[in-house]
Amino acid sequence: MTLGKICKISGIILGIFEVVIFCVEAILLEQPILVFVGFFIAYFTILFMLICGEAITLLDSIHSRIYMINYTTQEIVDKTKDEQTPVSYVNTANQQKVTWVCKECGTGNYQNNLYCRNCGKYK
Ligand SMILES: [Zn+2]
Repeated sequence: MTLGKICKISGIILGIFEVVIFCVEAILLEQPILVFVGFFIAYFTILFMLICGEAITLLDSIHSRIYMINYTTQEIVDKTKDEQTPVSYVNTANQQKVTWVCKECGTGNYQNNLYCRNCGKYK
């Protein structure tokens, strides 16, 4: 049950109550005109509550649509991040390529290594 539906239903119930109350008053006060007044007020009460209910339903659908857009955007951002992860991995791997050759044994060593990975001599 949404808030909009609750608003509409309570509006109809309120309208029926108003009609009943005005009918009772019309009988008690012996004023038949009050029945018409009751229907008139009840009509506007129901109309007002139906418009309110419709507005709430509309706002609710806008809200859920915004939520969906946010969710989709977040999903795209996450997907982009996932796609970028291997790229940064490749970049790190590129930094690990052989940049210096050991004078002692001729083994190619990575830029980050200060000592030869084969013989252990300093760069
Ligand atoms: Zn070496």
